[in-house]
Amino acid sequence: MYIDGQWCEATSRKSFEVFNPATREKIGEVPNGTREDARQAIAAAARAYASWSKLTAYQRSAYLYRAYQLMMERKEELARLMTTEQGKPLRAARNEVQYGADFLLWYAEEAKRVYGETIPSARPDQRFIVLYQPVGVVAAITPWNYPISMITRKVAPALAAGCTIVLKPSEETPLCAVELFKIFHEAAIPAGVVNLVTAQDPDPIGREFVENRQVRKITFTGSTEIGKLLARGAAEQMKRVSLELGGHAPFIVFEDADPVHAARGASLVKFLNTGQTCISPNRVFVQRGIIERFVAELKNRVSQMKAGSGFDEGVSIGPLVNEAALAKIERQVDDAVMHGASVVTGGARLRGDIFDKGYFYAPTVLREVTTTMLIYREETFGPVLPVIAFDTEEEVLAMANDTSYGLASYVYTRDISRAIRMYEGLEFAIVGINDINPTSAAAPFGGMKESGLGREGAREGLQEYLETKLVGIAV
Ligand code: NAD
Repeated sequence: MYIDGQWCEATSRKSFEVFNPATREKIGEVPNGTREDARQAIAAAARAYASWSKLTAYQRSAYLYRAYQLMMERKEELARLMTTEQGKPLRAARNEVQYGADFLLWYAEEAKRVYGETIPSARPDQRFIVLYQPVGVVAAITPWNYPISMITRKVAPALAAGCTIVLKPSEETPLCAVELFKIFHEAAIPAGVVNLVTAQDPDPIGREFVENRQVRKITFTGSTEIGKLLARGAAEQMKRVSLELGGHAPFIVFEDADPVHAARGASLVKFLNTGQTCISPNRVFVQRGIIERFVAELKNRVSQMKAGSGFDEGVSIGPLVNEAALAKIERQVDDAVMHGASVVTGGARLRGDIFDKGYFYAPTVLREVTTTMLIYREETFGPVLPVIAFDTEEEVLAMANDTSYGLASYVYTRDISRAIRMYEGLEFAIVGINDINPTSAAAPFGGMKESGLGREGAREGLQEYLETKLVGIAV
């Protein structure tokens, strides 16, 4: 762990093991942090806040820029560790390291643009000034599916704003966090500004984050269930919260779209990270007139996808994160088939030599999926793509919005008016129009409805770490 600028053991002196999900081999051990460790890390962050928040934006920017440069130098090393620890194919891991580094660079620049405002008053003898100040000590919790970029997406804007931070990464992927913190250490970020607490049981750490009065903000990326739990706890002290939660993205293909292009898009974005992505399409709605051509192309592409170790050439499907994830996919697919869905390709756990060692599920396409099936309602988080037929624009918009989630959505159409009607009508905070990658460090990422609160990336992502202060001056 990394507390107050020092690498340290847990106060319990215990550690826990980390495994490769493709082979189930042990790949490392990290300290098993306790609530006391979280308390110490928060105290360190609170001490460091006094001086860090007083630095100029230019000084804070220089640290972030140095961390960005170090990350770029270590890109390959970080990507290899990510493939080993998390399982995604090496090419995807390289992309994630780049995406993660982008946040350091973007916020190194944006740190210098925290502009205030003056507002005209109705009184001639009054002036209004609005200024932005850092919220204070931030506690961050991140998931395993994007084990590096989800950390920099929080650390970079927090530091840019003048906040200090304590991070608890996922217990599935703590090694990526450790490597990232080595970079923060080498970038000479002052002691206490960034702190890392690793723990096998997240619950006591989360409680300390919520209950410790020195923590002024909680930022969380993970499941909606845990996000709600933290938000309920944070409400007690009215701590600020940013929540990046689950998704249930619709992928809508209209008859006027090119079915080959749309099927290519669906297959690329769905199976990214083996479907373990919050913006992964979970429900593919295809207008009846092109459904056969779309499904044929999809089948052609998906059935050729190669599963295996992320280090093997040509592999695009890595393992799922653990046995529970595999069991969830099996349950959803079995339920869908039992209720009348048909399997176009895949549909089962992969068996045999290399597959028995890890948690592999075949890339799967289902059709004749209906609203009564679990897969229609639940976030899937695995390599299964359910296809649902629709007839009209009004019908598909209602179906797409019929979920408590509101993160990403996708629309394929060549009709500009329809595209506008759709992006205006979709209750999702991210809409890709003929585009499967509407994400960037420069663009606001987040969810509507139960997919979250607040945004990460872009100018909005910095605002999350700032308080607005109004000064009224009588002259
Ligand atoms: P998760 O909620 O189980 O875990 C996320 C983090 O919360 C982990 O660090 C975990 O240790 C911690 N945690 C779990 N229980 C906790 C508790 N009681 N107190 C405090 N912390 C606790 O989610 P996951 O399985 O790691 O990640 C997958 C989920 O994350 C999916 O729902 C996915 O959609 C979501 N996600 C969202 C985004 C986004 O930007 N919206 C990005 C990536 C992942």
